[in-house]
Amino acid sequence: MSMNESLRARREAAIPRGVGTAHAGIFAARARNAEIWDADGRRLIDFASGIAVTNVGHVRPEVVEAAKAQIDLFTHVCFQVTGYESYIALAERLNALAPGPSAKKTIFLSTGAEEVENAIKIARSATGRPGVIAFSGGFHGRTMLGMALTGKVTPYKTGFGPFLSDIYHLPFPAPYLGVSEEDSIAAMEVLFRSDIDPGRIAAIIVEPVQGEGGFYPVSPGFMRHLRSLCDAHGILLIADEIQTGFGRTGRLFACEHLGVEPDLMTVAKSIAGGFPLSAVIGRAEIMDAPQPGGLGGTYGGSPVACAAGLAVLDVIEADGLCARADWIGERIAARLRQLSQRDAGIGDIRALGAMAALELVQGGDAASPDPARTGAAVAEARERGLILLACGVRGNVIRFLPPLTIEEDVLDEGLDILADALERTGALEVAA
Ligand code: PMP
Repeated sequence: MSMNESLRARREAAIPRGVGTAHAGIFAARARNAEIWDADGRRLIDFASGIAVTNVGHVRPEVVEAAKAQIDLFTHVCFQVTGYESYIALAERLNALAPGPSAKKTIFLSTGAEEVENAIKIARSATGRPGVIAFSGGFHGRTMLGMALTGKVTPYKTGFGPFLSDIYHLPFPAPYLGVSEEDSIAAMEVLFRSDIDPGRIAAIIVEPVQGEGGFYPVSPGFMRHLRSLCDAHGILLIADEIQTGFGRTGRLFACEHLGVEPDLMTVAKSIAGGFPLSAVIGRAEIMDAPQPGGLGGTYGGSPVACAAGLAVLDVIEADGLCARADWIGERIAARLRQLSQRDAGIGDIRALGAMAALELVQGGDAASPDPARTGAAVAEARERGLILLACGVRGNVIRFLPPLTIEEDVLDEGLDILADALERTGALEVAA
């Protein structure tokens, strides 16, 4: 029995099946930049980055050094007991970097779902209102509130209800799925007529590019519409940048593409290059609404993670990773366009910076998703040494999230494997 097989058997006996693992037969032993070596010593190219966490690459030396230096000083005192500088310094830098002219403040937590919870707490406290609007296909985490906000039932919500009240979902505008911006705006008008007065809504939460939902971007026009609607009704606009942040889309934050300042922003994942850290960054007067003691958590803003976070920002700047994300996205999209010439199953190609995806459909028909081929292509790629992730409300999207530091030859090698996997899983048809 191989090490991977034996670990799989132990995992199945010891770990509940509810924790899904996309590549259940692979156990990482070590990793460096855009490569992972498994328990049997096999090398894999990483196009997942631990779900958009290692934008600066695995084991980036500056990040590791910063964390090690902090570990030698202290690993934990709890910011609610005594403060420490790295928490303040990282908040200051994020406050200055967050989009828009308003003065900002930042609170640190540990996970994405936890800061989504905190963003909603802050919004309710600041507005004194209960309602929250989210979008179909959106993903906001696995806590009770995160699940309530998430716009996909299976597998995230099945069997876990009832959920918090006063949460409303609108259709997310994704023209490829047949939902226009007008449809979404019309649904909002119906919501305000039939379910809840806009004066009772605390916040609208939206991902600038839906992540788990399938890498569908919000247009600048739609985001501006949300901004003016929020302004007209005293509603707060929350941008969930957990998957889109830290250079992934070619800007430090995806909102910068949209020309809109959100009132609150949730960021996590690549913020600390692999250490558990998340943050709510927001307009100072809104962030100050909850009373002292109302926010926090024992591990929120761990000193080790904050030290790593400061190093991550340095690396993004020093390596020019935003520009590099654009280059990576263009290289992936160019290759996908080339493949789509011979493969009618590639129905759509999307890339905002290095947040790139392809959508697999049958016979080029957007209304006929092909989740079976998607799963087969991901499995085939794995067999050939490439870690991919699927996503999408219809389960037919392959997303590309390589580290922004990936070497050119490793990126191309990964794209060759992808081409091979697509060829082996689909009858090559000439695109119509
Ligand atoms: N929001 C978005 C947009 C996400 O992509 C995720 C994680 N995939 C979350 C929230 C939840 O983050 P976490 O898993 O760290 O709780």
